[in-house]
Amino acid sequence: MDKVYIPDIENAPRQTIVLEVDEFLSELTSLTAVQGHVTLVHQGNYLQVSTQAKTIVTLNCDRCLQQYNHRLAVDASEMIWLSAEVPEAEPGLEIEVTLDDPVEILFPQGDFSPEDWLYQQLSLQLPHRQLCDQNCEGLLEEAEKIEQPVDRRWAALESLKEQMQGN
Ligand SMILES: [Zn+2]
Repeated sequence: MDKVYIPDIENAPRQTIVLEVDEFLSELTSLTAVQGHVTLVHQGNYLQVSTQAKTIVTLNCDRCLQQYNHRLAVDASEMIWLSAEVPEAEPGLEIEVTLDDPVEILFPQGDFSPEDWLYQQLSLQLPHRQLCDQNCEGLLEEAEKIEQPVDRRWAALESLKEQMQGN
């Protein structure tokens, strides 16, 4: 995905550029191409960037360590401030505008990288806990489940034996 020169967004009809996406991202290993769109709207002192996109990635299950396919979908929107005070040498510099809300700031005559941004948005959607299935019992639990019923039967037999010996 090519970088977009920010003034080109301002000069576009309705200050809007819509990028159709149907490709693999260099940073993201996905099974299928990322499909969707990224919309860039120039609002004067900020860019409104939004996306709806989806792909399928292969993840490793945290419990059973097996690989599984995960559908990744993103529906996100973000404001990116434009400020001439940001040196062009430091694009994407993050500063804190309010105490708890850091925002990205770009140089108004610089480039915006829709690919990097889309990659960040998709990465945020990756599950913290990666499970092949909500009910995945993993390797250890699986082994215990097989042994337990046998153990319980033996335990019952043992207690029966004790009772008989006791009488
Ligand atoms: Zn699993």
